[in-house]
Parts: sequence; structure tokens; C-alpha cells
Amino acid sequence: MTATITFCGGVRTVTGSSHLLEVEGERIVIDCGLFQGHREEFYKINSHFCFNPVSIDALVTSHSHIDHCGNLPNVVRNGYKGKIFVTKPTRDLMKLMLLDSAKIQEEDIKFVNKINARRGLPLRQPLYTIEDATKALKKLRAMDYRKKFKLTPHISCAFYDAGHILGSSIPLLEMRSHNQTMRMAYCVDLGRNGIPLLEDPDILENIDYLIIESTYGGRAHELIADAKMQLAMTINRTLERGGKVIIPAFALERTQEVVYYLGQLIKEKIITQVPIYVDSPLACNITDVFMENSASLDDEAKSLIRKKADPFGLNSIRYIRDNEESKKLNSDKQPMIIISTSGMCESGRILHHLRNNIEDERNTIVVVGYMAKNTLGKRIVERHKRVKIFGESFELKAEVEVINAFSAHADKNELLEYVLKTKGRLKKIFIVHGDMDQSEALALNLKNNGFNAYIPKKFETVALP
Ligand SMILES: [Zn+2]
Ligand SMILES: [Zn+2]
Repeated sequence: MTATITFCGGVRTVTGSSHLLEVEGERIVIDCGLFQGHREEFYKINSHFCFNPVSIDALVTSHSHIDHCGNLPNVVRNGYKGKIFVTKPTRDLMKLMLLDSAKIQEEDIKFVNKINARRGLPLRQPLYTIEDATKALKKLRAMDYRKKFKLTPHISCAFYDAGHILGSSIPLLEMRSHNQTMRMAYCVDLGRNGIPLLEDPDILENIDYLIIESTYGGRAHELIADAKMQLAMTINRTLERGGKVIIPAFALERTQEVVYYLGQLIKEKIITQVPIYVDSPLACNITDVFMENSASLDDEAKSLIRKKADPFGLNSIRYIRDNEESKKLNSDKQPMIIISTSGMCESGRILHHLRNNIEDERNTIVVVGYMAKNTLGKRIVERHKRVKIFGESFELKAEVEVINAFSAHADKNELLEYVLKTKGRLKKIFIVHGDMDQSEALALNLKNNGFNAYIPKKFETVALP
């Protein structure tokens, strides 16, 4: 069999996952994610594919995070004609995520073009538009978990649960030719056991090749169970001094997890009932998708929904879509909990809430997600004395509490444990989706346990013998 894998993106870095698998002249691409960085780098890297979209037979997408699916509209815009295979919840989530991504890009270019027009510079085009995203969404084909389907005459696929976010999958690619079969699993991203709302990652058997993420290849998380109590103690402390709790959170998954925990904490009478607001139209729509796809949630969440126990607080929490209603929160002085986006505090309604609350020492900003370098969220985590919001300088007087235990990525111990459980005949493990120090730490850890681990370079093609 002639089979190769080319690492097109998301290697030796975290974002922009994309991989080209070629078997007997057939070509499929696993993930087409956006590389996320500053504007010039963003356009340069995301406009360049290491394949011709016209020549691709099928696309497979592991989950709806933008660094895994966000460049699909661009691939379609550049001539891809085939289908895009996903799980059903991923299809529903991608509808929201891709349109949101297209809208952000259109708005960003509108802003740039305003400046360019004033300076007499040429006007620019967004990477893709809402129209392109809509075209890409029409190509989605939703497949059941754990059911094998054909991608090309020589390649088939089945989606296993990755336990990372709703709908996330480990695509298991099976290649067959001349009575030979090879199996390759794509664990990018890989979740953890015990994440609220989600099933644990499926364990796979008889895998020849494994592509695995390494976001936390050299770091260990705290226990997920600790996140709930840390959240409770922080809320109680803040409410006792009459403050507000401000939680910047990603609209997808982290918001629903925090809401789920808050509901439990109130029911268990660990925290007192206060007004709770989810202030993000995208998070509201995503929570609806969670309800519509409750069959893919874990048993605990399913049973709560069956018993009409309202795990997402649809009857007790105020979900705010409307702009005016969001602004009204600014003048409300009573203690409350506000969950808002964007998760890294770079844009969106969270900025208004931070501006209004950051200079009051009674308040607490609770960080529940990853904050990248050079973001306002990171400066808050680092407790800078003053931070800029909307170009204005503010004193950071509010308490800052960081809860790391929420992570949806397997840590160094969980990654090794997962690989050890993957029984059978593993020939080689490719380590991707991590900064170099993290990938190297995982490679070393795997090698010390007797595995053949390799960190590919970007655009490198490796034969699969
Ligand atoms: Zn992800
Ligand atoms: Zn990722």
C-alpha cells in the first residue's frame, strides 16, 4: 500500500490543525483549522494550503473549535467540491461557529478598509465571508458515532468520542489495499475523564498510527472535581462582601460547564441564590444546541434532562441576547454572577463588564479558561496593576481567581495513560498541536515508555509503511 501523511498545519504550535492523508492516489484532509494570530500572520498562514482544494476527495472534521474547522469556508471558496464529514452535534455547532467566524472577519476587514481608504491604501478582502461559510455548511454530512463509513474506495472512517467538547470525535481512518489494512487514529483534541456533561474518551484498539495533541504535553492539571469547589468558595467570598462575580468564558462548552456547576451548587445549597446572567448571544445559541443534542451528553446530564431538572438553568438563569438588556446590567448594583464572552477578553460584551467592575475591590474576576499571550485576559491573570480596556487605562482592584482545573485537554499524565490503554500494534505516534516545549516533553515521556514518538515539521510528508 502507498500511504503518506502530510502535516499541513497545527504542528509545533497549537492552532491551525490540518493534515493530508494520501492512499493509493486518493486524498483526504483531516481538519482545516484557522491559525490564530495577529492580523498579518493570520492572513498569510490561513490563505496558503499545502494541497489544492480541487484535488481533495473528502474532508473530515474532528470538532467544532475554530482552530480545527475554521478554514473550511476558505477551502470551499478555493474550489473544494466534495463533502465534509462530521458528527451530528459538530454539524449543529459548526453552523454557529463558522458564521460567527465569518462575521468577525468581515467586521475586521471593514475596520481595516476604513483606515486604508483614509490613507489611500488598497482595500482588502476578508479571508472568507458569511456567504462562503454558508456554502461550506451545505457540504456537511453528519455521521453517527462508532459507525464505519466510506470516504474513498481505499479509505473509510468512524468517529469515536474524544470527550473534549460536545460532538468532538477521534476519527479512526482505515486504509485498505492489496489485502493489507492499516488504522490511524486522530486524537486532536483529546479530552479527559470526568469532564462535566461529556462522556469519557473512547479507548481504541489495534491502531497502527496515532496522531495525538500535546497542548499540555509537559504539564499536569488539577482535578476536575476541584474546579466546582474552588468556584463555590470564590463566589461565596465575593457575595459576602457585596461584590459581583465576572466570569469571562468561551461561548462553546466552558459557558455550559460553568452554568451546569452553578446549578448544582445552588441545588446543593453550597452557594446562595443570586441573579445569574449569561450575556452572549452565541453562548445562548450554543446552549440550545446542547439541549437539542442531549443524546450525546453523559448519563448524568441526560438523566437531569429526562427529569426536567434543567441542567442549563433555562428557567432560572437569564440568557441575554439583546444588546439593550446587556447594557442595563451596567447600572445594576446588586451582587450577581455574569458569564460573558469573549473567553480571552479580547472583544465582545465582557469588555463592558470588565470596564464597569474592575476597579471595585469587592468584585471578583474568575478565570476559567486558557488565556493566550498578549490578551487582556492574560494581563488580568498576571494581575497587572493597570490594564487598558477600550483604549482607556483602569486600575485592577477586583480580586482575580484562576481556576485551571476546568481544562478540556488531557494533561501529560492523561495523554500517557490514554496511549498506554491503546492496545495492540502501535508503530508510530505523531505528536502535534502543542508548543515545541510541550510536544518535546510528551515525546520524551512516550519514548521512556517504549513508544516510537515523532514530532513532525510543518509541511513534512511521512510515509506510512
Ligand atoms: Zn478543541
Ligand atoms: Zn485544538
